[in-house]
Amino acid sequence: MSSASTSVPFADLHAQYLTIKQDIDSAIAGVIRDSAFIRGARVDAFERQFAAMHGVSQCVSCANGTDSLYVAMHALNVKAGDEVITSAHSWIATSETITQAGGSVVFCDTDGDTFTLDAKRLESLITPRTVGIIPVHLYGQPADMDAVMRIANKHRLWVIEDCAQAHLARFRGKLVGTFGRAASFSFYPGKNLGAMGDAGGLLTEDGALAERMAMFARHGGLTKGDHRIEGINSRLDGLQAAILSVKLPHLPAWTAARQRIAARYDAMLAGTPDLVLPKVAEGREHVYHLYVIRHPRRDALKAHLASNGIETVVNYPVALPFLPAYARLNVRPEQFPNAFADQSTVLSLPIFPEMTQNQQGKVVDCVRKFCRAS
Ligand SMILES: *Cc1c(COP(=O)(O)O)cnc(C)c1O
Repeated sequence: MSSASTSVPFADLHAQYLTIKQDIDSAIAGVIRDSAFIRGARVDAFERQFAAMHGVSQCVSCANGTDSLYVAMHALNVKAGDEVITSAHSWIATSETITQAGGSVVFCDTDGDTFTLDAKRLESLITPRTVGIIPVHLYGQPADMDAVMRIANKHRLWVIEDCAQAHLARFRGKLVGTFGRAASFSFYPGKNLGAMGDAGGLLTEDGALAERMAMFARHGGLTKGDHRIEGINSRLDGLQAAILSVKLPHLPAWTAARQRIAARYDAMLAGTPDLVLPKVAEGREHVYHLYVIRHPRRDALKAHLASNGIETVVNYPVALPFLPAYARLNVRPEQFPNAFADQSTVLSLPIFPEMTQNQQGKVVDCVRKFCRAS
């Protein structure tokens, strides 16, 4: 993503590669040497390591973090007419997989501060057809898992956590991915733990569910030639598994680096006129996949930063219920006031573990200059 005219890229995957180049190169060479491209010891090893890091017994790897959501819902027997509640503000993978699994999407607004499910609205959306809830730990901040689990348990609903942006985030000291029936992770290259291609995975403590998920993701069987049901092909490949195993031990340090950079943004941007900084709710530990500010003249701020060589992203320009893909739901802005307001004000500033103080200083100066002048 970086180029000569970009003085501060949004993220810098190459900078991270250079810090672990030898280990990555030899891991890749090892997979090629052994022709261990599909399944095999490296995939098993990564599944064990990722589960162990969470203190969870089962990890089922998948081809990507969209399939993992779909695989989990399929294994939980989502069927036509079943309603699944999820956040109005997320990446479309979260909601499109509900439809793909045969269910009906029910959106819940966010809370206005954390970009996660508004626990106060959640219960009012439950009907006799509701089967589950997918909280999204968006941008790296956990959703209110006390409220989500209390409501889910009261109504006997399953919970699948969408942890795609929140590796190692914690809610009241407990890792995300350890609250619901299952948790879905993406290892898309730009995520906090990223492969060098598509990759994803699921965590669960439920052995029977893990078996159903693995079976469905592997053509309906657990071993070659075994097809107990019709499934799909959603495998983590050997190259990605080997790469992820090299990167996994670095994840805690990379997470701490993201948190330090976020704390510096917080300190240096505090008090800037019209600028709303990310808010972290009590009891939640944010891992800053994204550092998302809000500004009433977002598009002008984004253009100003771009003209100074600073790359930013809007995550996301249209909240899910207002996308053409959901025209069938016929929603009104008043149903999702926070998600609706946020879609025109959010702006993600550059943040990545290898970001230098010099790069960050440029971003801060530029944001402050714009805000003071406008
Ligand atoms: C990235 C992402 C996904 C999907 O992951 P892929 O690996 O890209 O398929 C799902 N949910 C959220 C919130 C994401 O950010």
